[in-house]
Amino acid sequence: MKQETKNTPPQNIWDLAVIGGGPAGMMAASRAAECGAKVVLLEKNDTLGKKLLITGGGRCNVTNAEFDTRKFLSKFKGNDKFLFSAFSQRGVKETLDFFHAHDMPTKVEAENRVFPKSNSAKSVWDVLARSMKDNGVTLLSRSPVAGFVKKGNEILAVRCADGKEIKAKAFVLATGGMSRPETGSTGDGFVWLKKSGIPSLRRTRLWCLLRSKTPGSKNSRASACPASK
Ligand SMILES: Cc1cc2nc3c(=O)[nH]c(=O)nc-3n(C[C@H](O)[C@H](O)[C@H](O)COP(=O)(O)OP(=O)(O)OC[C@H]3O[C@@H](n4cnc5c(N)ncnc54)[C@H](O)[C@@H]3O)c2cc1C
Repeated sequence: MKQETKNTPPQNIWDLAVIGGGPAGMMAASRAAECGAKVVLLEKNDTLGKKLLITGGGRCNVTNAEFDTRKFLSKFKGNDKFLFSAFSQRGVKETLDFFHAHDMPTKVEAENRVFPKSNSAKSVWDVLARSMKDNGVTLLSRSPVAGFVKKGNEILAVRCADGKEIKAKAFVLATGGMSRPETGSTGDGFVWLKKSGIPSLRRTRLWCLLRSKTPGSKNSRASACPASK
């Protein structure tokens, strides 16, 4: 296992462990760290965001310049209600503000599709990777996660393929869908969710937050949130 930075938390318990270093995991890790959490991200590949780099034919269609959240979500047939809460807090404007503030200009093409002005998905990758680094996320690449360490319904840690356990107070499962498995997205998360008894998700999307019981709290919680292809 390769440790890229040394931001080891007190007592070796991270506030948050993010599993999967695609755009969802990178953004979740970066934002949580920005808010003050001690965050570790585990990625099975030697690099982050392999699928991200091939999106949009290598140009990455970042979003769609439709700033009315209801109109935007009407394109996500059947999932618009589910997505409304998240997009009300961070919609198209906030997404573009984020990339523009990180020195990534964008352009709008046919059908309001937004691309990086550079015409390169690498620009999106750079913003997310830099943001993770600037916010102090510890990246453990070449770290395939094999499953969870549980006590009853409480998740205590993730278990890596080499047997190493990473303890955390909360977990974000961002292992992606199953398209283009050669990029690392082999659907591992679906198997874990099934085993954990979390209600089934459509196999095309996966992004969920799992929170284990934190010291001093009364309840443990696990929730699932589909969000990506
Ligand atoms: C050809 C193609 C073109 C696309 N074009 C666009 C586009 O232009 N615009 C757009 O918005 N979307 C596009 N998409 C969809 C987009 O790629 C996905 O929505 C996005 O990558 C999902 O991000 P994610 O972080 O949820 O998952 P992923 O990008 O799939 O990342 C999941 C990560 O988790 C890691 N992982 C998996 N299992 C484990 C494990 N056991 N342990 C540790 N790490 C693990 C994987 O290695 C991977 O890095 C495209 C998809 C494809 C296939």
